[in-house]
Amino acid sequence: MKTYDPNNVFARILRGEIPCRKVYEDEHTLAFHDINPQAPVHVLVIPKGAYVDVDDFSARASDGEIAALWRAVTAIAHDLGVAVPGYRLLANTGPESGQEVPHLHLHLFGGRPLGRMIAKE
Ligand code: 5GP
Repeated sequence: MKTYDPNNVFARILRGEIPCRKVYEDEHTLAFHDINPQAPVHVLVIPKGAYVDVDDFSARASDGEIAALWRAVTAIAHDLGVAVPGYRLLANTGPESGQEVPHLHLHLFGGRPLGRMIAKE
């Protein structure tokens, strides 16, 4: 089991200690605009539970939490008007991913053509 840092910035947002621009909330899930957007739409979708990354979430979360996260993504994409032109999901997980905040988050990008895949090194 991965060790969860309860003082990471998204844990603090969940506790209301740091403000966020909320776009969606349900029992298990919160979504808010990224503070440094990389596209016209750049939303972070997070579980309310204490999970470090995708690997940790898949191993320990309930079926209800997992379903809620995915259903939130599609609801948000529709609400923000990117479902039809299309959008991209990204979840950094593990040492080589570049994950900075150690609380699982799905980046939802949209609002412009996003190009193919990731930048080549
Ligand atoms: P990662 O690199 O961990 O996949 O992405 C972390 C994301 O969190 C970055 O896109 C960064 O801009 C965003 N972020 C970091 N601190 C805050 C914050 O305090 N508020 C919000 N809304 N986003 C943040």
